[in-house]
Amino acid sequence: MDSQYFDHNATTPLHPAAREAWLEAADRHWHNPSSLYPAAGTAKIALEDARIALADQLDIEDETSIIFTGGATEANNACIANYARRNPEARCAVSAVEHPSVMAPARRHFGRRLVEIPVDEDALLDLDALEDILARDAPELVAVMAANNETGSIQPISAIAEACQGHGALLHCDASQWFGKSDISIIADITVASAHKFGGPKGVGFIKVSDEIDQLELLSGGPQEERRRAGTEDLAGIAAMCVALENCSFPTQQAAMRDAFEHALTERIPGTRALCCDAERLPNTSMVVMPAGKNLKWLTRLGRKGFSISTGSACSSGAESGSHVLAAMNLTAEAIDRALRISSGSDHRAQDWQALIEAMAEVCAGIAEQGR
Ligand code: PLP
Repeated sequence: MDSQYFDHNATTPLHPAAREAWLEAADRHWHNPSSLYPAAGTAKIALEDARIALADQLDIEDETSIIFTGGATEANNACIANYARRNPEARCAVSAVEHPSVMAPARRHFGRRLVEIPVDEDALLDLDALEDILARDAPELVAVMAANNETGSIQPISAIAEACQGHGALLHCDASQWFGKSDISIIADITVASAHKFGGPKGVGFIKVSDEIDQLELLSGGPQEERRRAGTEDLAGIAAMCVALENCSFPTQQAAMRDAFEHALTERIPGTRALCCDAERLPNTSMVVMPAGKNLKWLTRLGRKGFSISTGSACSSGAESGSHVLAAMNLTAEAIDRALRISSGSDHRAQDWQALIEAMAEVCAGIAEQGR
């Protein structure tokens, strides 16, 4: 592993066992699972075996409630567009900290029928505001992510699901950051996962739907995935994804090392502020606001020392505006400009975190020198 890679919320390296599974499936089962000759039948069996194995692993009773997809962006976009198309009058509510792959299609397809649910200073959904919105605006679809990609904050998804159920609203949960990092209980009507966030390949994922979702057509075309997502299934990617999930571990020391890092960093670089420390968080994620220096400067300088970190969502790194997540948490534009996201992997050890602190202290000294 690359001990200086601290950007696991952006993507993770392919797990060696997942790579093996990928190669084996690509070599043995390259036929189209939808074709009608025996060799294709073998591929179809391998595909359905993967679905059953995934269902077993996640304690899902009915494996047909799993739909394989091309990753979370596709799933979020397609689910939201599909719902809006079928329910042209419906309203939608989304948390203010959703990933752009939820936020953008929700804005596009619901327009003025979209309401944003505010969050608190820890990026956690305001449950009273959700209740008010459910009662006042009567959204039929509510989207709240399981864990935030920038801060790691874990939403109270059971309470959110209960509130939605109470008002007859469907809950869409982008759980891309949750799988592989924490114990999962799938309770939303639509739960979205992406393989490359937990040691699987890029461009593959799955959604789990509840019995409430009886009509879904994510992509149109062929009859794959029970007509719910057309397109030849990426069997090698799917096999690798299942093996990656099986091999995920989230050692208890991860959160302790992250907490120790935040404590040591704030002592070493006075004025540093760690965000969401009081919230339930993913064990690997730390969002810190540095006392000086824009985040891109930090990124470049730490990059020169070999460390990979991020300013927030990798998808928005090319965007002009700062993090909408931190803005929703009421951070000032200046603080947002100085925010860094550090996300570890399960192999990181205390000495790796210590090496990062040393590098950050050096970068900080360089920034202070320049500022004089
Ligand atoms: N949702 C969240 C919360 C994410 O963090 C990401 C990736 O950054 C995505 C969706 C997009 O996932 P994918 O790369 O599978 O399209």
